Amino acid sequence: MDQTLSPLLSRNVFRWDHSDAYLFDIDGTLLNTRDGVHYNAFRNAVTNIYGVDASIDGVPVHGNTDIGILRAASRAHLIEAELCPSIAALLNQLHAAGKLLGVASGNLESIGWAKLEKAGVRQYFGFGAFSDQRELREDVVRYGVAQARQRLGAQATVCVVGDTPADIRAARAAGVAVIAVATGIFPKTELEALSPELCVGCCTELFQTA
Ligand SMILES: [Mg+2]
Repeated sequence: MDQTLSPLLSRNVFRWDHSDAYLFDIDGTLLNTRDGVHYNAFRNAVTNIYGVDASIDGVPVHGNTDIGILRAASRAHLIEAELCPSIAALLNQLHAAGKLLGVASGNLESIGWAKLEKAGVRQYFGFGAFSDQRELREDVVRYGVAQARQRLGAQATVCVVGDTPADIRAARAAGVAVIAVATGIFPKTELEALSPELCVGCCTELFQTA
């Protein structure tokens, strides 16, 4: 590739493929769910309690029980999980290069793994850090970094991949690099303002700059 054509390379920025381990956020980073419904009490409750962004659209509520509604909404939510652009190729390349891959997510562990399973990428991840035991994202990411270094050694370089300002702040708090991907609800400009090591519209751009 002609490097003069690549603004990311010409700035000699962070080499996204040079870390030893990667901690991926799930929602908005690895995958997205297609909802399109308004926030409401149910959705907020499900989000707060289960850590997933679910809706009850299409779920029969009359004659159903709350548990039945929750179960159906969760199932629909899982089925709608859709990988973000180039995630499959990215995971495949990093895995082939021998990188250690984990997830750091605000999801509850069982829900996070179920989503990745449904999206067909569960097999890439050797470990995960979730919100079951840690309420703050900073703590989730710190725990993920600690797990990576437990496996690879204290000097291992770890890179967070996330779609929100909270992911960037959590990576900073943990003292590791972060790649911001604008495939969630936050625009690239907003993520760039927080100075992540690298910021892309979607992971397809990584392959254009490597
Ligand atoms: Mg996210």
